[in-house]
Amino acid sequence: METTITTQNEMEETYLGHPKGLFYLFFAELWERFSFYGMKALLILYMTQKLIFTDHNAFGIFAAYMSLVYVTPLFGGMIADKIIGYRKAIMLGGILMAIGHFLLSFETPIFFYTSLAIIIVGNGFFKPNISSFVGLLYPVGDKRRDSGFTIFYLGVNVGGAIAPLICSWLAISYGWHFGFAMAGIGMLFGLFMFYRGMKVGVFGEKGKVPKMEIYNQKKFGIKQGQLINILSFLIVPIFAVLIVFHEYEHYLVGLVFLLIAITLYLISRKISKDEKRRLWAVVYFVLLGSLFWAIFEQAGSSVTLFASRNVNLIGINAAQTNSINSGFIMLLAIPFSWLWTYLDRKKINPNAAIKFGIGMFLLGLGFLIFGMSGHFADSFAKTPMIFLFIGYFVLTVGELFLSPIGLSKMEALSPAKMVAFIIGIWYSASFFGHFFAGKIAQLTTSVETSSENSFFNSVIEFFTGISSSNFINENFQQLYGYVSTFAGFGLLSMCIGVIAFCVSPWIKKLMV
Ligand code: GLN
Repeated sequence: METTITTQNEMEETYLGHPKGLFYLFFAELWERFSFYGMKALLILYMTQKLIFTDHNAFGIFAAYMSLVYVTPLFGGMIADKIIGYRKAIMLGGILMAIGHFLLSFETPIFFYTSLAIIIVGNGFFKPNISSFVGLLYPVGDKRRDSGFTIFYLGVNVGGAIAPLICSWLAISYGWHFGFAMAGIGMLFGLFMFYRGMKVGVFGEKGKVPKMEIYNQKKFGIKQGQLINILSFLIVPIFAVLIVFHEYEHYLVGLVFLLIAITLYLISRKISKDEKRRLWAVVYFVLLGSLFWAIFEQAGSSVTLFASRNVNLIGINAAQTNSINSGFIMLLAIPFSWLWTYLDRKKINPNAAIKFGIGMFLLGLGFLIFGMSGHFADSFAKTPMIFLFIGYFVLTVGELFLSPIGLSKMEALSPAKMVAFIIGIWYSASFFGHFFAGKIAQLTTSVETSSENSFFNSVIEFFTGISSSNFINENFQQLYGYVSTFAGFGLLSMCIGVIAFCVSPWIKKLMV
């Protein structure tokens, strides 16, 4: 085993040039994402086929669940930073997630909402803290950080790619409970990997309780740190209620936005000028991230429906098109991680603000390619599958420019001792993104014939090859709903990418 000397002068065990702990976190996250995405793949079908929910209700619950899992990391991160530390938070989150997935395998509506709520709370403890732990493995200024996060992101996507296949196979062949139970087992594997990492000592002293006095402080006669375990179960009903009343989610979106703004304001009063400057960069990246995910998350909804209705699929079904993105990440993550290290060695690694600009641009280009498939629609309004593949390829490259880099950057930009909270803020971009993604997806369904010759209509007609003034038949009207929305938001994202690229020198100044 090789060893390197870190800047803190401690001997560090490495594997493939990265701290050995990264590989334990890689597998822990791989299995956690296995459980998360395995269950996600079953969720809509389970609701509509087993629980006999209406489509409308099922979509509402699905969107609420998918956004709420990204709001709890704010709290999970903050609690870990202040009271329990990353290790305990990851273990608590993993246990909650495993319980949630196992409870889902009891096929009744009562367990259903409770299970989703438990997973939401569990994810809040697990996700931001395992991500922060990755950053903790690299000393300040370590050039391997982007590369390390990109490897970690590979783990995310390996889990995300294989889980739907295995869990849906089990659910279809043997029954829903086997599919959900498999997700729970996946989470147990993840917990075991993390626990092994702690036992073999690859994490050194990292991630432990930050201040034992605070952890041991008594509240209601119980140590504060232990109280967190109890409270994490007690807040479950709140999330169950939020899922049931999902049509009021916009209030929650407003509330979370306010809460983040107020918290950041309060933090900014206590930190140095330099830290405040960096906090502005965090806000900028989270705003861009929210836009990115709002468009990106069409993949699981409107792009999947587009694939099932308006793409000539060969060899795969529409649900399986969801694995294309993860498949490309699996192919590209390692080359990208090498690329960052290589560019760094040559001292030409672009800064995060430039990478974000490129990421937004490529995301937009990917969606524009989906939109351009309209030019090649056959008489049944079905487009060639190659556009779906190329579009996914381009937007996946965009994702690699933005998502792991965002994670990696948060730690460097965070004020001292609040890294996991700042990573929680980064994940809140997915909360906002999922909410707006639902609104964008709705645009694909509300297409009317329009004889208006506006500039926007002409641009869309130019790129998609379809005019909104006279649809040949309903199929083409539906196709127009998809390709016009994809092309429109694709172009918007490309413009934002160019603007982000142009303002990057200023953002770079905020980051020093
Ligand atoms: N797909 C990634 C994951 O599950 C990214 C999530 C996100 O930041 N929205 O970790």
